[in-house]
Amino acid sequence: MRESRYIQVLLPLRLKWEPFYSYSEEQLPGSLAVGDRVRVEFGGKEYVAVVTVVDVEEEAGTVGYDRIKPIIGLAEGLDAISKEEINLWRMVAEYYLCTPGEVYKAAYPAGKVEEEEVKARINDRLQERIAKLDEKIAKARREDTRARYLALRDELLRQGHCPGAVLSRSEARMDAATDRWPAAIELSDSQSEAYSKIKEVFHDRKPALLRGVTGSGKTEIYLKLAAETLESGKNVLFMVPEIALSRQLEDRIRSHFPDELVVFHSGETLSKRAEAASFIKTKPYLVLGTRSSIFLPHKELGLVIVDEENDPSYKQDNPAPRYNGREAAIMLAGLNGAFTILGSATPSLESLYNCSVGRFGLIELNTRYFQAEDSDVEIIDTIAERKKNGMVGSFSRKLIDKIKNCLDKGGQVALLRERRSYSPILQCEECGTIPKCDRCDAALSLHIKENGESKLVCHYCGRVKRYLGTCPKCGGSLKPLGAGTQKIEEEAAELFPDARIARLDSDSARSRKHESEIIREFSAGDIDILVGTRMVAKGFDFSGLSLVAVIQSDSLLGQQDYRADERALSLLEQFRGRCGRRAERGMFVIQTSQPDHPVYQTISGNLNDSESMTKLLSERKLFGYPPYSRVINAVIRDRNASRVELMSRSLAETLSRSLGNNLKVIGPYSPAVDKVGGENIRIIRLLLPKNKLLKSNKATLEEEISVFESGRKYSGHIALDVDPV
Ligand code: ADP
Ligand code: ZN
Repeated sequence: MRESRYIQVLLPLRLKWEPFYSYSEEQLPGSLAVGDRVRVEFGGKEYVAVVTVVDVEEEAGTVGYDRIKPIIGLAEGLDAISKEEINLWRMVAEYYLCTPGEVYKAAYPAGKVEEEEVKARINDRLQERIAKLDEKIAKARREDTRARYLALRDELLRQGHCPGAVLSRSEARMDAATDRWPAAIELSDSQSEAYSKIKEVFHDRKPALLRGVTGSGKTEIYLKLAAETLESGKNVLFMVPEIALSRQLEDRIRSHFPDELVVFHSGETLSKRAEAASFIKTKPYLVLGTRSSIFLPHKELGLVIVDEENDPSYKQDNPAPRYNGREAAIMLAGLNGAFTILGSATPSLESLYNCSVGRFGLIELNTRYFQAEDSDVEIIDTIAERKKNGMVGSFSRKLIDKIKNCLDKGGQVALLRERRSYSPILQCEECGTIPKCDRCDAALSLHIKENGESKLVCHYCGRVKRYLGTCPKCGGSLKPLGAGTQKIEEEAAELFPDARIARLDSDSARSRKHESEIIREFSAGDIDILVGTRMVAKGFDFSGLSLVAVIQSDSLLGQQDYRADERALSLLEQFRGRCGRRAERGMFVIQTSQPDHPVYQTISGNLNDSESMTKLLSERKLFGYPPYSRVINAVIRDRNASRVELMSRSLAETLSRSLGNNLKVIGPYSPAVDKVGGENIRIIRLLLPKNKLLKSNKATLEEEISVFESGRKYSGHIALDVDPV
């Protein structure tokens, strides 16, 4: 009889191969299966690895049995990984040119030994809370007031911590709760039509792309599909770009599926992740989450919803896996036999292209649910106004009149300025110096604290400096160039002294409590003017909002990126959708110095959606950009400025030589901010044609890079970013 058995495992590392280990029958009573987690030693460190192959004697034999180390033991208390999860990791790794181990590490960030203890602690806490809840619920039941029970539950739900699990278990013991309360969803005619078309697309086993203006009722359709999926005993993943921007959505989902909802995002602590993971084992569930919720241990998944599918937040830039949640969601759904629905008012060109080649099914929803008409659009040329003395600070007199008018009628106003801080840039009046961050090649912004104290902040690395008001070079006085949200708020307060004004940006929304307070007050009509960054454009439904305005829209266009226009258009459409959601017509004002820009022409209806899409697509085709090619960025980071230059040039040459016939090598070039956190950055952009060679080109590229890295002893400086955003 054999003494040892051999396995291969996946380590949470950037390792291209899966090492062999052995275990003996006395070490483990049973035999290991694929997905089991074991503790192993590798390179002098201990890791929790995932078993990927069992019984590999023959291959192991070629390595030499004697050199194979035994495992340390089973990783007690850690759940096994499903085959679907491992397959997803492999798929993501292959597409995004990283290793399955890196995906494993991202999926199970606690891949360390301590996880076990964390989990034990959670279990204790959960038990404690269940006991407490049982007590409370029993009390509520004695008092026999369903209203009180519901109020109690709402309160608990707000506390977070995976309350559904706690509640449904407790609730099971609460026989008084008989009827379920998800409100029935009644679709309008046009929604029903869209809904049946979605079903047809699902029938063909394709992802459906739902394109519908804000307020057309897309969410209501998702909820209907979700309800059906849950009823059929399957589970739902509802993806959003950012949780912070989805609080109203969260409440809406909760009102339908209070017991099934679990909210998950990448900022969650380890223990919350473990809680969410253990929750979704007790199905049915609906996970509302950001991109990382793809890597939860999904089971019986029936539907994946990707809302705002074009949002760049779905992409992870750093570290690996540098994946796009939208694409990974499609992979996840495919592996689990689930349906996928993508939705947006302004779908990505990639997805529209996928529809045009028959890979996705396109469904349009063109009417707004409340029959509201599109808001009137007015583009104000700030340069022309300035010449006519028509500007007061950041506001044009035209806009001021409109705001006054709106406030007089009891309406509410939202003002978008896509730069937080008081002033995004400062300049010395004497010598022209613009104070920059020492570690990043970026201007420092001036922030004024509530108590009047000022500081300079780098928006790239977060470094904070004291603000002295004088130039670091010559001691001259600094003057603000341009106005951020704080300044706009101040100007608005001066212009409209009777209005109640609040600000919503990531500075003011530091605490979730404060943020939801602002949103609630604005919804309740207790705030007249809301000033903010794109946070005011997204996800909120304010019925009293009748005027929305973009203060300095130029900053939306000013990015040197082939996607900038598409993004600006999408943000502006979203913002426009915020007003006039009910029956009355809203007003959308854009202040810009480039009124003729095609983005504004599209918004004001001089170009229709499909025309502008065709235009954008033909530009992409001309330059060989996606979706007509695949872009991979090789990103080189180095603290040493001359070495980054040298290495990136030499890498570009190497790649041109070996792959130049098959793909286009652009660069190296410096990104707009070419130094962040002390690291110099260069980018080599590779355009790979979408043909039969795509796969082999990707493989060659990976190979060339690792040869370069080892040949030049330059490991750890080069990252590949597939489909960068
Ligand atoms: P979208 O997701 O496309 O922006 P929503 O689903 O948020 O649109 O719908 C806009 C508004 O219309 C919301 O206030 C929503 O409650 C309401 N609404 C949409 N469809 C329905 C429906 N079938 N029944 C009742 N209200 C609806
Ligand atoms: Zn910095």
